[in-house]
Amino acid sequence: MRQTRTKTIQEDIVVCDRCHREMDPESTDLEWQERIAIRFRAGYGSVFGDGNLVEADICQYCLQEVFGKYLRITEDDPFDPKHKLGDEASRGYQEYQLQQILATENFLKNFREAVQARQEKD
Ligand SMILES: [Zn+2]
Repeated sequence: MRQTRTKTIQEDIVVCDRCHREMDPESTDLEWQERIAIRFRAGYGSVFGDGNLVEADICQYCLQEVFGKYLRITEDDPFDPKHKLGDEASRGYQEYQLQQILATENFLKNFREAVQARQEKD
């Protein structure tokens, strides 16, 4: 006997905090990879409040619309870059960069904890 059943699929997407555009990692429109993720902890004296976590996911269109006139865009080859990112760019990441940074930070945290546990054992 053939029957029909309803299947619910849950997907992780990112929604632009400004325009609510959905950015789907499975989509071929490449909006997912072009979005900007802002995630940092505000430092002492920050306008965002000392120690507060600041986050935003912004689509490329909102980035261009809001910040376009302030962005310095330099033609470059990502496979043979002529221009290096300076320290001043260290808090703005695209998602694929952010994942690498978070993985590295997690590794370092685990490494520090393992070293500390080893020192306490000795
Ligand atoms: Zn947007």
